[in-house]
Amino acid sequence: MMGDKLTMYKILFPGGCQKNHLIMLTLFLIVSLLITCCKDNPTDTMPDDPIYGSYDPWETSNYVLPFPVGSNVYVIQGNCTPSYYRSWNSHQYGGIAAYGYDFLVPIGTIITASRSGKVVEAVESHYDTDKTSGNYIIIEHNDSTYGIYYHLTLNGVLVNIGQYISQGDTIALSGNSGNSETPHLHFQVNQRKEIGSLPPNSIPVTFRNTTPNPTGLKRDMYYKALAY
Ligand SMILES: [Zn+2]
Repeated sequence: MMGDKLTMYKILFPGGCQKNHLIMLTLFLIVSLLITCCKDNPTDTMPDDPIYGSYDPWETSNYVLPFPVGSNVYVIQGNCTPSYYRSWNSHQYGGIAAYGYDFLVPIGTIITASRSGKVVEAVESHYDTDKTSGNYIIIEHNDSTYGIYYHLTLNGVLVNIGQYISQGDTIALSGNSGNSETPHLHFQVNQRKEIGSLPPNSIPVTFRNTTPNPTGLKRDMYYKALAY
């Protein structure tokens, strides 16, 4: 990366390193650094991500927080968490869960539907200690996107496949099953039903019943589920 910048500098300033050029070089490196940082932290990606699309305005979002009104939930991992941030980070930009959210909640926490739709998949047979396969629900929305609720507890599915769910309905109990190091709910919306398939197909999502979140929820922040 640095080599590229020096090459570019030589092209821009073929005269070499004079005093004015040093100032220009400093400015150039600062601008390059800023650009690099933005690229490495696409949490702020918007409005036209070529792969994933863009965040809808949060005030009119189709989605609400997937917890009962009044809940105050902590986001342990947000969208596009950079790979250097945490060793277990799994929401990297370009990955299968780029636009997922991890809510830190104890096993048995009530999960509600973030958006209405039809239950198309449900698995609840795995123990919370099973780290290879997890329990989950997939709800198909009326625009053919899919809401995925992952890491549910054993027998934590409270709905049936084929059932239509209204926004805010109780659907599941959270857990720690599957690829999960601490009890939490992973929620993401996909363009396709398949979990974990490439190319990446998670979608940027905002929530209308909490504090302003124009580019989604941020990691290490609490969000309260307000009435809607
Ligand atoms: Zn996650």
